[in-house]
Amino acid sequence: MKAKRMPNELEASWSEDDMVSGETVRAQVLIMRTNGCCWAKAGSGGCTMCGYRTASLSNVTEDDLNAQIDQALSKYRGEPFVKIYTSGSFFDTDEIPVSVRERVFREYASCKRILVESRPEFLTDELVATLPKNLTVALGLESSNEEVLCRCINKGFTAAQSREAGMRLKAAGIGVRTYLLLKPPFLSEQAGMDDAIASARFADPFSDEISINPLNIQHGTYVERLWKRGDFRSPWIWSLIEVMKKLSGTVNARLMSSPSGGGSQRGVHNCGKCDAAALSAVERFSFSQNPADLEVSCECKLTWEQYLKAEKLLGTSADIGRALDSELTIRM
Ligand code: SF4
Ligand SMILES: [Zn+2]
Repeated sequence: MKAKRMPNELEASWSEDDMVSGETVRAQVLIMRTNGCCWAKAGSGGCTMCGYRTASLSNVTEDDLNAQIDQALSKYRGEPFVKIYTSGSFFDTDEIPVSVRERVFREYASCKRILVESRPEFLTDELVATLPKNLTVALGLESSNEEVLCRCINKGFTAAQSREAGMRLKAAGIGVRTYLLLKPPFLSEQAGMDDAIASARFADPFSDEISINPLNIQHGTYVERLWKRGDFRSPWIWSLIEVMKKLSGTVNARLMSSPSGGGSQRGVHNCGKCDAAALSAVERFSFSQNPADLEVSCECKLTWEQYLKAEKLLGTSADIGRALDSELTIRM
């Protein structure tokens, strides 16, 4: 039986490599349990690919959050970078009350860098003026195409709102990491790549880093329903590599990607044989920014190229490979 998830305990924490001012450093990563994303709770259903609704609780108090911070501090080993994820917006006071937010900034004041995530509507002029200079805010722009944002992702804010928030943060000397979604539902593989490239160019003026996040099929989401009936395939790693190659040297922001579920049927994947090598290439490039690090070879690159041609010919964004699979089995 699964252990009960206690509101006064962190969902998860670990340490990993990331970058501060061009240097690779260790980062403490904290996943906090909060009352959840306001957009997912608003009756909107939330974003089509987001399964965080099931990850949040509904009875997390200020004391619980402080207990989670105590836990984080007891595990802290002096990492120069701390990343705090809340499965929503750090600046939504229904998730993180002001006193807890201020405590986080105080406790980690000597860190070179703190990263938190937020929807753009919380990043008002008044709030931004109070933020510490070692802060980076991650903005989930996903796509610069308003129609994709609204119809495919159901994001509940516009790209223009993200840009405004990004510009405001930049002007105040706060860092910005922008997340883009590679292959929102209803876009073909090629359209997904084109969308990510256009979105990165849109985000570049207000982003220090652009993280390309290939869609990963999470449980209980709208996208999972599409995937189960063969109407969606998670992107190929070749597509992620292609996007990185096309953008490399043409944007100022650092390009990065650390795909969740990479190499599985639910995550970004290739043929299975080359997935680990292709994902390592993406990871190397995320640190080096050297396009030579993206060179990988496998015979399935040809299959990917044929896949792009076939979906164009058929005018579909459905999972063509699945449709052609004679067994028609859903590989979990
Ligand atoms: S993707 Fe972000 S904004 Fe959308 S529902 Fe999930 S947590 Fe909320
Ligand atoms: Zn392969």
